[in-house]
Amino acid sequence: MKPVHVIGGGLAGSEACWQLANRGIPVVLHEMRPVRGTDAHKTDGLAELVCSNSFRSDDAEHNAVGLLHAELRRAGSLIMRSADSHQVPAGGALAVDRDGFSQAVTDALEAHPLIEIRREEVAGLPPQDWDSVIIATGPLTSEALGKAILSLTDEDSLAFFDAIAPIVHFDSIDMDKAWFQSRYDKTGPGGTGKDYINCPLDKEQYEAFIDALLAGPKTEFKEWEENTPYFDGCLPIEVMAERGRETLRHGPMKPMGLTNAHNPTVKPYAVVQLRQDNALGTLYNIVGFQTKLKYGAQSEIFRMIPGLENASFARLGGLHRNTFLNSPKLLDETLRLKARTAIRFAGQVTGCEGYVESAAVGCMAGLFAAAERRGETPVAPPATTAMGALLAHITGGHISREDEGPRSFQPMNVNFGLFPPVEAPKTGDDGKRLKGQDKKKAKNKALTSRALADFDRWIAGQQATHEAAE
Ligand code: FAD
Repeated sequence: MKPVHVIGGGLAGSEACWQLANRGIPVVLHEMRPVRGTDAHKTDGLAELVCSNSFRSDDAEHNAVGLLHAELRRAGSLIMRSADSHQVPAGGALAVDRDGFSQAVTDALEAHPLIEIRREEVAGLPPQDWDSVIIATGPLTSEALGKAILSLTDEDSLAFFDAIAPIVHFDSIDMDKAWFQSRYDKTGPGGTGKDYINCPLDKEQYEAFIDALLAGPKTEFKEWEENTPYFDGCLPIEVMAERGRETLRHGPMKPMGLTNAHNPTVKPYAVVQLRQDNALGTLYNIVGFQTKLKYGAQSEIFRMIPGLENASFARLGGLHRNTFLNSPKLLDETLRLKARTAIRFAGQVTGCEGYVESAAVGCMAGLFAAAERRGETPVAPPATTAMGALLAHITGGHISREDEGPRSFQPMNVNFGLFPPVEAPKTGDDGKRLKGQDKKKAKNKALTSRALADFDRWIAGQQATHEAAE
């Protein structure tokens, strides 16, 4: 049987190799370290953790990343097995001894009879005779390969300074203060005239907000980030504020064309707009609020905005160099490049964020490629599972409108806002109506129970296909 070629031995590539080889498919893994390094990796080890040693919460009942851990374990993940056996104490989080973890992944892949590891950079398009390829080269994809990938797409950028705006859970927005309206009630393509959520600020609130933005602690650039351009020239909000106190009021916070539905006679001095971020309408991003403010400062400062006092953030803003595809446009539902279907992508380069998410996308890419190699049709996990929800985000679960410019897709960690709604119990064991944290916990538990039941059915199907083909 011809091998599947996996490029990049990080979190995603290592998991993809493992899933393939354990389904009887030969694999060639091409990892460029130590021949060529990256600006963040420090060792030659496979699945090196470039920064924190945490896989975040391990609570599979109430937390979306904990649920992803559980699904990966059920899929026989090498990344989870190695993390579990090199765990260090970290409260409810799963943190690992990074060297032991990476060594365990390296040893397992090196020992597998169906895996050949080549330490080399793939510095251009994969040769045509590689008929099944998974590219999992991560946020620091080498320049030569990045350029080659661009030549296969009609995009003009792949690596850029990624200024990310925060995303808020819809049900945490106070709609007694905020209201739905598009600027000048514009309907546009597919629009309703009520596509944005608007939060009004008076003069005093605006001035206090600008003071906080200017004073808030910012993340410093790393040396290697300094020459990377801002994507689409989108400046962080605090950089705009530094250019003049009125800049934001004439930019992303302009009040023109908007009437406060709760107080129509008083014109807002400034308005913060939020735009629907996922097809389900459970997440909204704060328009134009890309920022390099530190995380703690962001929650505090953005909660000064009327209507967002109790905002719960699905993702905070950030700024770092990143390399990822405009996946909803370029990839099909099993992560294949539409322009050349022999190539699949996995990991952070597809537009997920985080170690566990990258491993999960690697797991799916491996399973899809394995099914294809066996002449079967790959089946995606249900959208009700953490893996399925992540896949839906990557391959098309976001909202795209013409007025958003060329790229609206942004990388994201797994979170419950990506899941289809679920019926959750309204009352507790004592028969009393659930409120606040108890209500949220019951909803999350309903989401995770449904996810694991659906995941078990899906993964059993994957296994059965494999066994039937043995
Ligand atoms: P990687 O793990 O980066 O693996 C990609 C591999 O491909 C690398 O081994 C690289 O050497 C290799 N490669 C690249 N180009 C080629 C080529 N042309 N040929 C052959 N091999 C190639 N996530 C978190 O959850 N927590 C964090 O604390 C965190 N910190 C981060 C800090 C930085 C500076 C960056 C850039 C990202 C961080 N991330 C973090 C985000 C992300 O989850 C990780 O980068 C994660 O490792 C991505 O997994 P991956 O498999 O997609 O890529």
